Amino acid sequence: MCKQTKTDKWGKREVGQWLQVPFQRFLIGLFALFSLSRAQVLLLATLMACGYALWPHSGHANEQQRGRLLYLTLSAGFKHDTVAPSRDIVKGIGEKSGAFDTTLADDVSGFTAENLRNYDAVMFYTTGELPMTSDQKTALVDFVKSGHGFVGVHSATDTFYMWSDYLDIVGAYFNDHPWHQQVTVDVADPESPLVKFLGKSFQVNDEIYQMSDFQAKTSHVLLKLDTSSVDMKNPRVRQRFYGYPLAWTRSVGAGRAFYTALGHEEAVWKSDWFQQLLLNGIRWAMGGH
Ligand SMILES: [Zn+2]
Repeated sequence: MCKQTKTDKWGKREVGQWLQVPFQRFLIGLFALFSLSRAQVLLLATLMACGYALWPHSGHANEQQRGRLLYLTLSAGFKHDTVAPSRDIVKGIGEKSGAFDTTLADDVSGFTAENLRNYDAVMFYTTGELPMTSDQKTALVDFVKSGHGFVGVHSATDTFYMWSDYLDIVGAYFNDHPWHQQVTVDVADPESPLVKFLGKSFQVNDEIYQMSDFQAKTSHVLLKLDTSSVDMKNPRVRQRFYGYPLAWTRSVGAGRAFYTALGHEEAVWKSDWFQQLLLNGIRWAMGGH
């Protein structure tokens, strides 16, 4: 049985070996080539995927983590020349850092409960009594208190004097600017990640606000005026127990507010340090650290 089988199959094997061996070698070679190519393709694909994910501003994950900012520049009162350039600057800060995308608004139509759902923070460089309906005002308060951000720059405190809920968000009202000159600004909290990069103090040439109604107990002061750098005998100066705060943060319900009184001069807006301060404030207001 064994012999017969051997004989029967031998012939086939003998013929088959000549045919099969090169064919098997070809298959093995083809498979090896295919495997190698596939490995290379996989490696290349992995490298490309990693590069894509790690590349700033282009990764899908980064896109999802980007904050969304609604930047309002509506002047119902005094209009600053810096409003126009500030729009491109804020947009640029978001694009350069990859931290947020900016929607520019020069009217209040976007301030509805429905539309605010598209944003992580709103930013005001405004003046006067903005023409918001009571529903829009409620939507703004609800937006911040429910855990979103508010960022105010310079004349954001020269806004909504007639609406006390706004004072709860921004933290003070503008009350004249006795000085417009080079001053020394003290970093009130040098450990704060928002202003640590500024050191202990710095010089700035800007219009310097003094505040009324500052919510001192519920605000965390980051920057304040060094009063030795200005004329305190100026008749426009009002002495207040909280001094002359120039930047602070506040908790508003579950939300966060950041404000800086600086930002009148275009040169200030164009400064790297001011843009870094705004970036830090915006990130923080959006829930970052
Ligand atoms: Zn100003």
